[in-house]
Amino acid sequence: MAVAVVLAGGSGSRMKSDVAKQYIKINDREVLYYPLYTFQNNENISRIILVTRDTDIEFCKKEIVAKYNFDKVSDVIAGGKERYNSVYNGIVKLAEYNKRSSDIKYIDRDSVYNEDDDIVLIHDGARPFVTDKMINDVIDAVKKDRACTVGVPVKDTIKVIDENGFGIDTPDRKTLWQIQTPQGFEMKLIKEAYDAMFAGKEKKEGSNHNITDDTMLVELYSGVRSRVILGAYENIKITTPEDVETAKSFIKNFFKKN
Ligand code: C5P
Repeated sequence: MAVAVVLAGGSGSRMKSDVAKQYIKINDREVLYYPLYTFQNNENISRIILVTRDTDIEFCKKEIVAKYNFDKVSDVIAGGKERYNSVYNGIVKLAEYNKRSSDIKYIDRDSVYNEDDDIVLIHDGARPFVTDKMINDVIDAVKKDRACTVGVPVKDTIKVIDENGFGIDTPDRKTLWQIQTPQGFEMKLIKEAYDAMFAGKEKKEGSNHNITDDTMLVELYSGVRSRVILGAYENIKITTPEDVETAKSFIKNFFKKN
């Protein structure tokens, strides 16, 4: 079994809207409804931690979790300033459950808790079109390779630019993938990588730019590389107003296909 952290703690400043992107309605349901629905109904997921801004906790408990009967959501907790702060809060909450289980390990060790089998999936609440297959594929890959993310090969040429807006490098497109979520990890691996980061331990590699996803964090602090498997071009993150229009056009087919 696996557990999930669903992230909805962002402010959505790129949306230019009063409503944060995860609560914008598509077909009468909030964006956040859709990924929670898919995780709730996936037979390999046993628990969901929902991370929101602290001011949204009560709204999410009442208007999303209770209203739609998402009973696998055991906790709605506050996120932090950056995405990685929000993920860490989710991981710490999950670790509390593991600790509680490990306290009673002696009763029936195998059925209560087996750290080696524990897998955590981290998903952006602003990505409504995650599928059952993606969740299952990530879990299978983590069992083999410890860390995994979905993504898609880039369609455009990608350029690295300098501070003046001039191209300085054009990496070979065949080697470039756009990275999405869900991303999955052995619980122990990601917890140790986060603990190392917050303890100020030295990175294994030199990169210094912002940490924008968890595969990057695990690479930097544990040296473990993530397997990259195929997600879907529909698995967009709703970030700017035009993404809402794209999502409205995808939603019609989504429940038919999945
Ligand atoms: O900001 P970005 O597009 O990377 O956000 C990806 C996901 O992470 C979104 O679902 C957002 O709500 C969440 N997030 C968060 N806490 C933050 C920033 C982003 O939970 N501090």
